Amino acid sequence: MGAVSHLALGGAWFSLPLYKEPWTPGLATPAPPTKLFFVVRSTAVIARAASPKAAVVKKEAVTSAGREVMAGTGVFSDIIDGDVYKYYADGEWNKSSSGKSVSIVNPTTRKAQYKVQACTQEEVNKVMEIAKAAQKQWARTPLWKRAELLHKAAAILKQHKDPIAECLVKEIAKPAKDAVTEVVRSGDLISYTAEEGVRILGEGKLLVSDSFPGNERSKYCISSKIPLGVVLAIPPFNYPVNLAVSKIGPALIAGNSLVLKPPTQGAVAALHMVHCFHLAGFPKGLISCITGKGSEIGDFLTMHPGVNCISFTGGDTGIAISKKAGMIPLQMELGGKDACIVLEDADLDLVASNIVKGGYSYSGQRCTAVKVVLIMESVADAVVEKVKAKMAKLTVGPPEQDCDITPVVSESSANFIEGLVKDAKEKGATFCQEFKREGNLIWPLLLDHVRPDMRIAWEEPFGPVLPVIRISSVEEGIHHCNASNFGLQGCVFTRDINKAIMISDAMESGTIQINSAPARGPDHFPFQGLKDSGIGSQGITNSINMMTKIKSTVINLPSPSYTMG
Ligand code: NAP
Repeated sequence: MGAVSHLALGGAWFSLPLYKEPWTPGLATPAPPTKLFFVVRSTAVIARAASPKAAVVKKEAVTSAGREVMAGTGVFSDIIDGDVYKYYADGEWNKSSSGKSVSIVNPTTRKAQYKVQACTQEEVNKVMEIAKAAQKQWARTPLWKRAELLHKAAAILKQHKDPIAECLVKEIAKPAKDAVTEVVRSGDLISYTAEEGVRILGEGKLLVSDSFPGNERSKYCISSKIPLGVVLAIPPFNYPVNLAVSKIGPALIAGNSLVLKPPTQGAVAALHMVHCFHLAGFPKGLISCITGKGSEIGDFLTMHPGVNCISFTGGDTGIAISKKAGMIPLQMELGGKDACIVLEDADLDLVASNIVKGGYSYSGQRCTAVKVVLIMESVADAVVEKVKAKMAKLTVGPPEQDCDITPVVSESSANFIEGLVKDAKEKGATFCQEFKREGNLIWPLLLDHVRPDMRIAWEEPFGPVLPVIRISSVEEGIHHCNASNFGLQGCVFTRDINKAIMISDAMESGTIQINSAPARGPDHFPFQGLKDSGIGSQGITNSINMMTKIKSTVINLPSPSYTMG
């Protein structure tokens, strides 16, 4: 599959916004965008490829109904040099002095799709220095102005959803529609964060001393939330835009500066997203984006003395980071083995739909995917049949065609999934479909009669393969769920709400869904993992709180004073 081509419409003039330079505090709010006109070339077929030729082509603005349709073009042409995307520091797009780049492989074609800069340690040092200085200024910026800029960034992001979604399709094989949804949801998340921020950061507390034994009312304590400093954000490949803005928004509204290290697969989508913040006019140096392999610059970033907080989402890497990081607040959203417990009285059609949606959406590459089904033996046959029937309708193929099942992110990921499947086969699992793989594309598979001695019973495949364990009591299901080292989410299906609550309380997971598959979101809901699934809690309010500290000022009166009226 080659690069996607687009037909440009002929002969017409379309307008695109041209934004002013980044805004610096103390100056007036940026003026509304002025218009820049591009000529759209008649019926030209313009393709993006990782070649210098493509780099020339990208200079030509390609629009459809007034919007860019390609990554790296139009307002995004500043972020690429030749065929390598630049990194973002000090309010500018830069080439790394390393002279090296990192290739991003398209999971569908398995060929190099994009390149990003391999940033150096010196560049990280510089970014941290600038971020520290920028944060001091930003903390003096009124809250309403911070919110205003975030709203602006949200609008620009949504306006440019198509080229960003295109990157998600090519970098992480996200189905086209879901890719657009991720960008739009991210814009909504930023706006909500701005609104929530002005409310919760606009409030403080007043305490009086005479409530504690032995004290008169002679001390008034005023406490409010202050920023932490420089927040390091590291999102994973599967939601490189959404899980980046879920860190960027709270950090910025709370008065922090932000250094983003995007996942390698998904870095180009993230760079486009960062450019939307640039276009919104945030002060120079407040946001930076360092690219490079996590295995090469990750430790240097996470152990950097300039970092005051780490917000990380990903796999076991997070456990290693938490052991290495210094005495700074950590927000860790890690892996999961989300259990789905099905009782005999459940609505079996609802169960089947949720198993298919929960287990196979985005080919199972979701932290909150259903990763093990624990089902009462008496209804197991019926549910398995219903699930199989629904799975037969799933479309399998390239993300550009919006297929339900698309290639998994990498060959090593596909190999890992295949390893789990082979292990289950050797140990006697029942295959509800034949195992089929072409390159990184793995057909959806349901494994029945899985037993606890199989790896798939415990490990996170992060692919379209789902194990079913038949249980003879609810306690057995709860026991399996709690024996896992993960504890992200879980779900229980029953018509008996009293039982559901009891089971929810007994399951050692951060969130339990009753009668629905696990899910992250809506984005303002608290979201947290127990055990190896995480530290702290996300969700807009929790993230804002996590990225702040409490500061108190105590007024000491010379003599006690009591309000009388
Ligand atoms: P990953 O391999 O842990 O990578 C996550 C991020 O860490 C990437 O940006 C990666 O960069 C970076 N990284 C790698 N090595 C690093 C190091 N030594 N220091 C600092 N950063 C480093 O995870 P993934 O494969 O992208 O994502 C899949 C995992 O994420 C699954 O386990 C899934 O369950 C989990 N996840 C959890 C949540 C949640 O909210 N709980 C949400 C989504 C995903 P490179 O790409 O450059 O290596």
